[in-house]
Amino acid sequence: MKKIGLFGGTFNPIHLGHLTVARDVREGFGLDKIWLIPSALPPHKKEKQIAEASDRLEMIRIAIADNPNLSVSDVELKRSGPSYTIDTVEYFKAIVPKETQLYFIVGVDAFLDIELWKSFRELFQVIPFIVMSRPGAMDGELEKKEKTLNDLLVTKVSPGYHFDSGKNAFFHPDQQPVFLFEVTPVDISATMVRTDRSKGRTIASLVPEKVKEYIESKGLYL
Ligand code: ATP
Repeated sequence: MKKIGLFGGTFNPIHLGHLTVARDVREGFGLDKIWLIPSALPPHKKEKQIAEASDRLEMIRIAIADNPNLSVSDVELKRSGPSYTIDTVEYFKAIVPKETQLYFIVGVDAFLDIELWKSFRELFQVIPFIVMSRPGAMDGELEKKEKTLNDLLVTKVSPGYHFDSGKNAFFHPDQQPVFLFEVTPVDISATMVRTDRSKGRTIASLVPEKVKEYIESKGLYL
């Protein structure tokens, strides 16, 4: 059975944090492949340092060119209107062979906002989540983290979720599991890339060299 990860984000731009955690999750879960899926961005955000979809896509292509286990999908950029994860998951479910196991990969910071996602309860019926640790988001005691996520799942998604500490995951009798996964801590965000760039500081330690060259040649994030 093939195992495939779906890793959505704005990727504005892709950075070394994304690449490190994608590698960790792929190795940790034995995934055959991870699809990086840049989302369409609401037009009203345009003035706030948001690169064109074509540039975000191209930077991902450049960043993963040497990595046969990572692919990029433009499915959300081709769809009109805002991107909804539920639509993307349904799309992939429809195109992969039946025996493929899909996983949705998300940082804990983004997962904490899950109730704002369209049809979020439905998502837990169709795809398991891999929730990655992230510096600055729920650092500290493991127990506190489990409790926060447990409360979120039980109160907002379904009371049937319970934590299995041996497997470090939340299970449910008839819904999909939510796996917690500690990735290499990389304190990098796309916001840091944009801020450093606009302040004239180097972004060499934040993005792959070729992405840095692309950003400079296109004059992005100034
Ligand atoms: P921004 O700073 O613009 O909000 P970002 O760095 O969070 O961007 P996104 O493209 O929004 O990047 O992130 C896509 C996904 O990757 C999210 O689920 C996010 O939690 C996760 N992610 C991004 N960077 C890291 C990191 N350094 N460690 C763990 N997870 C990360």
